[in-house]
Amino acid sequence: MLLPAVGAGFKPAPTLRNRHLMNAEIISVGTELLLGQVLDTNAAYLARRLAEYGFNVRYKTAVGDDITALRTALQIATERAEFIIITGGLGPTEDDVTRQAIAAFLGVELSLNEEVFRHVQELFVLRHIEMPPANKIQAMIPTGGTIIPNKVGTASGFAVNFKGAEIICLPGVPAEMKQMFEEWVVTHVLKKTGLGRTKVLRHIHTLGMSESMVNEKIKHLMKQGNNPRAGTMVSEGIVSICLYADAESRTKALELLGATEREVRHLLGEAVFGIDEERLEHAVAYLLKRSDKTIATAESCTGGLVSDLLTNVPGISNYFIEGVVAYSNKAKVEVLGVPERLINTVGAVSPEVACAMASGVRKSVNADIGLGITGIAGPTGATADKPVGLVYIAIATKGDFICKERRFFGERLNIKRQAALEALNIVRLNLLKSG
Ligand code: AMP
Ligand code: MG
Repeated sequence: MLLPAVGAGFKPAPTLRNRHLMNAEIISVGTELLLGQVLDTNAAYLARRLAEYGFNVRYKTAVGDDITALRTALQIATERAEFIIITGGLGPTEDDVTRQAIAAFLGVELSLNEEVFRHVQELFVLRHIEMPPANKIQAMIPTGGTIIPNKVGTASGFAVNFKGAEIICLPGVPAEMKQMFEEWVVTHVLKKTGLGRTKVLRHIHTLGMSESMVNEKIKHLMKQGNNPRAGTMVSEGIVSICLYADAESRTKALELLGATEREVRHLLGEAVFGIDEERLEHAVAYLLKRSDKTIATAESCTGGLVSDLLTNVPGISNYFIEGVVAYSNKAKVEVLGVPERLINTVGAVSPEVACAMASGVRKSVNADIGLGITGIAGPTGATADKPVGLVYIAIATKGDFICKERRFFGERLNIKRQAALEALNIVRLNLLKSG
């Protein structure tokens, strides 16, 4: 396939080569983004990658397919950033106007690039279809710009300079945008500019402390100017501390992260269960292995979610013996051996039944740990003294029981997820204690 041999002579704008910490801005173009029909995943991807190359992404903008709006966005962006990446609006159809808007902003014409034109024509030949006349526009870029080849599709990108700011324009289709970013932008701009800095991110995951409790303990790390700088995120009760280190090399950044991670672990103690890709089920699996203990689960309101999570871990069959979903009272009695009288007197959602479920499943397969979960996921089923979100989580071991009462809030699926995660966390804390 013919590909334009371009880019080799590309020179980043002078400011870009000299600046220490570069301000970058991302402009996503597409009316569909403003209507909320398409999620701006391109901006998220670019923001993360630019940070890794040491850029300081200070703004993200989304504009519609609108020449005036894009010119305004460019005017503002070129005043506050040295490096600007635009994605979207490079298609062949009438609504895609990004190239025209940039040419107008720069005060230049669009000119046809013969090599790119041949490339576009060739793609149509390969697909055995005649090229519609509209596709010719995809070989046109603002005069003086540098072509960024598209190996995946017909929309080439381009790079232009404006008063010392570097403007990179890429297509909106995520696969094409990523390929061109990784292959061209990284090679011709990011590596060449030699910023000599990198930002590396680490997440530290916790469960059991509220976000404000976490904040109380680590707020000194969250101040502007701190390196690594900490921030927090919450999802389904899991509070994650994000640490961003900025350093002259990855090694140095990792060193800074390592020291701060130790400090955070010290301050937050047992609440910390993992970093980055490590999930709660991995922590539980690790502890089961370390203590050489087996587990069996009996779930009611979580409907098997705990089993689902545990079986995410390869090799868990050595430690996870059985998971029972005992949703009806009949199953609780017949499968787990919960006394019917107990259910009739204290109700299926009670600490007594949670313990009986845990004990029943543990004994039936002779596991070291039995886990029992019963609760009201809602929206129906609540009574005056048993509200939606009330969940009992019991752990039975040889000769011992613990049972925790929890109240979760939200929709049915949120309550189920939170209860399953909390149950795993109770198992984890129990394993930590028992060594
Ligand atoms: P375009 O290059 O603007 O014609 O975009 C082509 C397609 O790529 C759109 O229809 C969207 O589905 C997708 N797309 C465009 N911009 C984005 C973006 N910022 N994030 C994710 N997908 C996008
Ligand atoms: Mg578009």
